[in-house]
Amino acid sequence: MQNENLIVVAGAGGFIGGNLVASLRAQGCTRIRAVDIKPLEEWHQRFGDVENLSLDLNMKENCETAAKNAHDIYNLAANMGGMGFIENNKALCMLSVLINTQMLQAAARNEVKRYFFASSACVYNADKQKTFAAPLLKEEDAYPALAEDGYGWEKLFSERMCRHFREDFGLCTRVARFHNVYGPWGTWDGGLEKAPAAICRKVIAAKVNGKHEIEIWGTGVQTRSFMYIDDCIKGIFLIMNSDIEEPINLGSSEAVSVNELVDIVEGIAEIKLKRNYNLNAPNGVNGRNSDNTRIKKYLNWEPNIPLRTGLEKTYAWIYDQYMARLHGKRESEQRAALA
Ligand code: NAD
Repeated sequence: MQNENLIVVAGAGGFIGGNLVASLRAQGCTRIRAVDIKPLEEWHQRFGDVENLSLDLNMKENCETAAKNAHDIYNLAANMGGMGFIENNKALCMLSVLINTQMLQAAARNEVKRYFFASSACVYNADKQKTFAAPLLKEEDAYPALAEDGYGWEKLFSERMCRHFREDFGLCTRVARFHNVYGPWGTWDGGLEKAPAAICRKVIAAKVNGKHEIEIWGTGVQTRSFMYIDDCIKGIFLIMNSDIEEPINLGSSEAVSVNELVDIVEGIAEIKLKRNYNLNAPNGVNGRNSDNTRIKKYLNWEPNIPLRTGLEKTYAWIYDQYMARLHGKRESEQRAALA
């Protein structure tokens, strides 16, 4: 990566985008443009030496502004959250198609050298995820298409849009299918958080308020794999700079059930909680895991950080956020300290 090239991160006010900007800075990139629809004070991470733009990337002219003179674009901007969000906001999830479509057009017009799109394991055919035994999903298992309603279909369509921009307009596009990413600087409350952050928060709350119970969505036997943010960021750079043209899995293959995830977090917190299962809550497919054969073969990539280690770091970070809020420190003050 040439440090003086302009790198654009769309969705930089969010979890993965913010961590990506932090990593680009750490690698010595001197020209970074960070873009997000949220007002600057709501970004998870924000850096004073980066060009920070609050822009709605549904709008064509804003995508032009974002893409101007860019060498590489990482598009992580999307309407997204955990199962509670994506099951109840399908139209909003589908509307993210506007962001990727306008960004691809702006990228092609500006002759951007490389374009990264963040896809998801939610593109996989639901019929292949019916067992609780964490079926390994290979890239070809996205077809015949039966993606997660709303969110997954948008990702699948946008993957194809990336392919056609590559074939028809010569834009170099790269697509990763993320399997659940977790870690510090992620959303941990408010309804958009995903299972690892939600479980950490609930365990912390139980510990702090002395009510030793936890609500678990579903039966607790549904399985998933979880990738720590540092592994995800390394994988994004490898895929972006590779010659892999088709969508590829980027995830951990260490699958656990939700109950096992709770066991680990309880172990970290040194507490045991009574589990109340909410069978009416959204909980998605029964089982899912990332088949990493392809990424191991082509990029020699495998996650380095075991789930327990990653959850310890995540728990500690959420604990600090939780306590700071409890003591009346507003999050914008904490974020401003970074800027
Ligand atoms: P996030 O919600 O923290 O970040 C997404 C960001 O996009 C948000 O800050 C949001 O404000 C921004 N955004 C939304 N609409 C926008 C618009 N119109 N213009 C500009 N910015 C807009 O989510 P994340 O976890 O950082 O995910 C990043 C990407 O990775 C998303 O595309 C998501 O679908 C994908 N992904 C994430 C996971 C995961 O486990 N976190 C799994 C699969 C795929």
